[in-house]
Amino acid sequence: PPSPLSSCSPLSSMNVNPSPMDSGLPPKSSLQNLNIEGSVSFSPSDLAFGASDFGNFIHHQPHAVLRPSTASDVASTVIYAAETPSLTIAARGNGHSIAGQAQARDGLVLDMRSLRGIEVCIGPEESTSYVEARGGELWIDVLEACLKQGYAPPSWPDYLYLTVGGTLQNAGVGGQSFKYGPVISNVLQLEVVTGLTSKAISSYNHDLKTGRGEFRTCSPSSNEELFFAMLGGLGQFGIITKARILIVKAPQKVRWIRMVYAEVALFIRDQEFLINLQADGGNDGFDYIEGFVMCNNDDPVNGWGQVPFTLSDAERFDPTLISKTSGPFLYCLEVAKHYTCPRHVHVEDSMNEIINGLQKSLGYIRGLSFSRDAGYMEFLDRVHAQEKILRDLGMWQAPHPWLCLFVPRSQVLDLHDHMFLRTNLINGVGGPMHMYPMLRSKWNGRASIITPEEDIFYLVSILRSNFPPPLGPPAIKLLIENENLLETLKSKHISFKVYMPNFKSKEDCTPHFGARWKKFIALKESYDPLHILAPGQSIFSRRK
Ligand code: FAD
Repeated sequence: PPSPLSSCSPLSSMNVNPSPMDSGLPPKSSLQNLNIEGSVSFSPSDLAFGASDFGNFIHHQPHAVLRPSTASDVASTVIYAAETPSLTIAARGNGHSIAGQAQARDGLVLDMRSLRGIEVCIGPEESTSYVEARGGELWIDVLEACLKQGYAPPSWPDYLYLTVGGTLQNAGVGGQSFKYGPVISNVLQLEVVTGLTSKAISSYNHDLKTGRGEFRTCSPSSNEELFFAMLGGLGQFGIITKARILIVKAPQKVRWIRMVYAEVALFIRDQEFLINLQADGGNDGFDYIEGFVMCNNDDPVNGWGQVPFTLSDAERFDPTLISKTSGPFLYCLEVAKHYTCPRHVHVEDSMNEIINGLQKSLGYIRGLSFSRDAGYMEFLDRVHAQEKILRDLGMWQAPHPWLCLFVPRSQVLDLHDHMFLRTNLINGVGGPMHMYPMLRSKWNGRASIITPEEDIFYLVSILRSNFPPPLGPPAIKLLIENENLLETLKSKHISFKVYMPNFKSKEDCTPHFGARWKKFIALKESYDPLHILAPGQSIFSRRK
């Protein structure tokens, strides 16, 4: 395998890399004179903020951090950068990237969290209701605003402290993706500031209020090329200043269930059975389906200790129900069914009947099923409770070399054998190891996001969580483990697409994009020919 210590490796940039003294950067005063309503900062704390992300192992110091107040501020910054020979711009959402994707070495970081605003519009029919959110809004705030009106977007990431704009650059996957597609499948319209063509620079009249130049509104029926390019486009084609997203009537509560499996084949079989129940829009199945792999021991973090919802669940968890011949891993199928508070006993009875009927056909270990009811908000915001615990322990701030893969269904069992059974994942990773399926039919093939071609593919994610070094392992050790895992898969001819890729060079892009690489380059030529945007994705280098 290529050494992860090569010069283009993330490992070569694990400490903050300050700008060189004689960097050829424009003088600070020219940026301070930029006519924007928001602010420009060169303060050391803001530069350190611009060089940070959740991954916490790549830190590229920007030249400045800007906080736009309006979409015009974003457009003005793009023009400013275009007029310089080398400046790049990284829109930074909530900085939950893993490997510097929202950073810009010696460039400008736009802290999009300053671009806020949410409007909920309830139409005469459910299909005409939507929420409009500025690019820097967090999903938690979008959810709160929508629930006040009894509505919510149908598809969610697992974690709600991500920005709308940042999430749409990947896909926004979660337990509802099998039914409603990822978040990007639920976008109706975008307002985008694209990069600038040289022609646009020379003819630009600086009258941003007329909406000319690089401001564009796009949807599946207007400027559709840009619309689909933006969805999963890794920030390469524009900066989202506003997104319009479908909303539907929200349930009040969910019945939340976890079931333990000893055999991966049954676990996979049942997940696919359940997602296929709703492949044609039926409503008899669950509304949320995820699965994860766990160690066959009572460890509260890596083992079956994660399954019970309450202490009394934990007391009734009977490990003797797990066959002594089962392997080193167990599997947890996590599902949820929506409901609105039953006014009549028979409504509850009928929901129980549906759930019992579904569970009867599943192959989980009888006796190892746990359930609880939760409010819709509490359920969707469930990861936040974990965040609070990890923050208190100092683990949220540690390096996070996460690895997320999309794997074709035909190879997921092979992947399980080679990746889980024969590597040191056998002891767990201190965080979730997801393995759950998606239906490709729920993903729009015109969007930029790259997935496997098969009708069903799995999200397999290794979400490592540790104490920061020296208490925990150094990031470099975990990064090497990740590289070795990927090399093992390649050597066994197991195909996969990395979700939220971390390219080290342009050469990495060809296998990832495959036949769509040429189109991706052509879109870049159209919407950001100077290669100003999202340099942290390491796909294109800035042109003069
Ligand atoms: P950032 O990390 O700040 O930015 C991501 C990319 O988008 C960068 O290239 C950046 O330049 C660009 N960008 C940011 N804002 C804009 C904008 N307005 N316009 C254009 N480009 C922009 N992903 C899922 O799919 N499902 C999950 O359930 C999920 N859970 C997560 C939980 C945690 C704890 C973490 C750390 C990550 C999780 N992710 C998940 C991954 C997350 O979706 C991506 O990291 C996402 O990009 C983060 O959003 P962000 O707002 O922090 O964006």
